[in-house]
Amino acid sequence: MRVRHKPWAKDKIEAHPNWVISDPASMKGSWQKVFPVEQPLHIEVGMGKGQFITGMAKKHPDVNFIGMEFQGSVLVEALDKLLETPLENVRLLHNNAKDLAEYFAEGEVEVIYLNFSDPWPKKRHEKRRLTYSSFLETYKTLLSKEGHIELKTDNQGLFEYSLESFSDHGFIIRNVSLDLHGTGDLSIVKTEYEEKFSNKGQRIYRCEAWPK
Ligand code: SAH
Repeated sequence: MRVRHKPWAKDKIEAHPNWVISDPASMKGSWQKVFPVEQPLHIEVGMGKGQFITGMAKKHPDVNFIGMEFQGSVLVEALDKLLETPLENVRLLHNNAKDLAEYFAEGEVEVIYLNFSDPWPKKRHEKRRLTYSSFLETYKTLLSKEGHIELKTDNQGLFEYSLESFSDHGFIIRNVSLDLHGTGDLSIVKTEYEEKFSNKGQRIYRCEAWPK
């Protein structure tokens, strides 16, 4: 996600450790302690400005949500949303998804959302795609027995790549849509990019991936 660089973002993030957890490795295996209620944990990887995670948290107060975003200038927009409307079932992480296994224990996560992840169309950037082999292996260890991944994208190339990658890593694909907004439930919580692309009439692809 492209935004104007905000040199003050880092200081603002550090000033709010109650919302942006500063040492996530120390919470590995005990994330429930940061939330007032023990309930299933869902993570959005590459959260962007937080519209989805805050919308989901309002709609599902019986779930704890963590939004992970490595660009500080983007994450502060999600932080602003929480400062304006505090949501006790949301926390943010200013970290890189490649280190997820350092932050979450095996089976600690129920759902991982990958929404409009950067497509990285060049083959030499394949390793950066959030459905690249190394990411899928990590997600698999973090997911609980009933856990799964939910992916949405406007990018056909990334969608095709992700289906193959899920399949290569032993995931079962369910609930596929090649036109989520054309056929689906209009009450779904939309991400920033989802709103932008679907308003332009672009198709949104969606699927779930369940470890076998
Ligand atoms: N989910 C949002 C934003 C999508 S843009 C939406 O649908 O509107 C993808 C976001 O993922 C960008 O903001 C980018 O900074 C973030 N991102 C990409 N790779 C990441 C990684 N390895 N770790 C954390 N965030 C990542």
